[in-house]
Amino acid sequence: MSHSLLTGRLAKEHKTIKHMLQIYCSSHCQPDLRTNGLCPDCLSLLNYAAQKLDRCPYGESKPDCARCPIHCYKPEPRQQARQAMIYSGPRMLYRHPIEAIQHLLDKRRPIPEKPPAGASQYARRKAAEKQKQ
Ligand SMILES: [Zn+2]
Repeated sequence: MSHSLLTGRLAKEHKTIKHMLQIYCSSHCQPDLRTNGLCPDCLSLLNYAAQKLDRCPYGESKPDCARCPIHCYKPEPRQQARQAMIYSGPRMLYRHPIEAIQHLLDKRRPIPEKPPAGASQYARRKAAEKQKQ
């Protein structure tokens, strides 16, 4: 899916993940293969993250992924993402300080109640499309 479909808080989170992967990629992956600062592996992880954000059952009230009670990532991308976040987390403060601070604040927000059905951005978009028909 195209990440341009993401809106609001989810779009912001996608941007932060992209920046974190760029930091990780620039020091861990082959330098000659990148588009937009990301190698094919990191790019596919970013696209995977975008799809998960789009379908996050919490929608706009999404908690931060690390504390989320729903584990929506498969083990392998989850491991890749963790590894990248561990490396890039502290470095984000220098490269993208506002996003880094926002991310830290998000970690302190309470985890919302279990979301109602159809709260994901994906489900809402589909519902809106249906109404238009
Ligand atoms: Zn990479």
